[in-house]
Amino acid sequence: MPRIEPPVTTVAEPFWSATRRRQLVAQRCPVCERFVWYPRHACPGCLGEDLEWRPLSGVGSVYAFNVMRRPGNPAMADETPYVIALVDLEEGIRMTTNVVGVPPEQVHCGQRVSVDWSVALSDGRRLPMFTPAAG
Ligand SMILES: [Zn+2]
Repeated sequence: MPRIEPPVTTVAEPFWSATRRRQLVAQRCPVCERFVWYPRHACPGCLGEDLEWRPLSGVGSVYAFNVMRRPGNPAMADETPYVIALVDLEEGIRMTTNVVGVPPEQVHCGQRVSVDWSVALSDGRRLPMFTPAAG
C-alpha cells in the first residue's frame, strides 16, 4: 500500500518546494524575531502577516517520542515499529516528525538529532525526518 502523502497547501508551498532541494525552512516573524511552525498566514505572537521563509539548521533534540508497534493507518503496516517524535529545533520550534536510522529502543528524550531526507514522495518532495546526530 503506498504511503499517504501530505497535501500541498498554498501557505505551505515554500516549505514543500524547499524539501525538493533537501533544505529545511520555516517562517520567521521579523517583528517578534522568532520562528513560526507550522506554516501560517499570520504570526501567532503579533498577528503580523510579513512572515519570511528562512533556512533552518536541521539540528535539534528529541523532546518526546512514541514507538508505534501497530500502524497508525494500514499504509504504515510495513514500517512498524516506527518512532513518532516531537523534535525541538535549535531555532525554537517544535516539529512532529519521525526518528529513523536506529532501532526504536535506541531513541531517547534529549537525544541530539539532525534532519534526514531519505524518504521521497511520488512528486519529488521529501519528508523531513530525523536521525541521531553524529558525535
Ligand atoms: Zn510576530
